[in-house]
Amino acid sequence: MENKEKIKIMIDLDETIVSGGYIESLNEYLGTNYKAEDFKDYYISNILPPEENEKYLDYFYKNVNVYDKSHHIPNAIEVIQELNEYYDLYICTAFLDPRKPKESIITTQHKYRWILENLPFISPKKILFTSAKELIMCDVKIDDKVSNLKRGYGKIKLLLSQKHNEKFSEEELASLGILRVNNWLEIRNILIKGELPK
Ligand SMILES: [Mg+2]
Repeated sequence: MENKEKIKIMIDLDETIVSGGYIESLNEYLGTNYKAEDFKDYYISNILPPEENEKYLDYFYKNVNVYDKSHHIPNAIEVIQELNEYYDLYICTAFLDPRKPKESIITTQHKYRWILENLPFISPKKILFTSAKELIMCDVKIDDKVSNLKRGYGKIKLLLSQKHNEKFSEEELASLGILRVNNWLEIRNILIKGELPK
């Protein structure tokens, strides 16, 4: 672990550092009480018939900042702050909703502001907005989406467990060079205490 300060880490934002807001917004709009386990799709509003989904997305991009209703993933901020002492950190987050490419720029603004306010120790120069995460040359990548980890650079690829990635077996992940971690304290053990995977 020598030259720790030179090791670059890419950290995803949504469902890795911050979570929530989407289900709350949909429930508020519909007057429903959906829970996380009710959704199988990554895009939760896909639960609606296409026409209603379209109306909801219009409402969503005009009125909602999901980060107003979100919460920090336990220990994420604290561990990232600690990692920042030893590593070169980059926050890398996709902003494109392929269903609404034009409106996606609104999300970028919300994300950028959230990062500045909640991770003030990360230089704005190290905030990356892209869906092409496989192009980012970082030694370590932390994400909750397998598709963001399975291709491209990264000596250590950590998948933070979330409902939507439970379907991937450890064997399947291992074959992709990905290690599952259940929480940020496990990430800390690996990256601060040096309990690196073999
Ligand atoms: Mg994510």
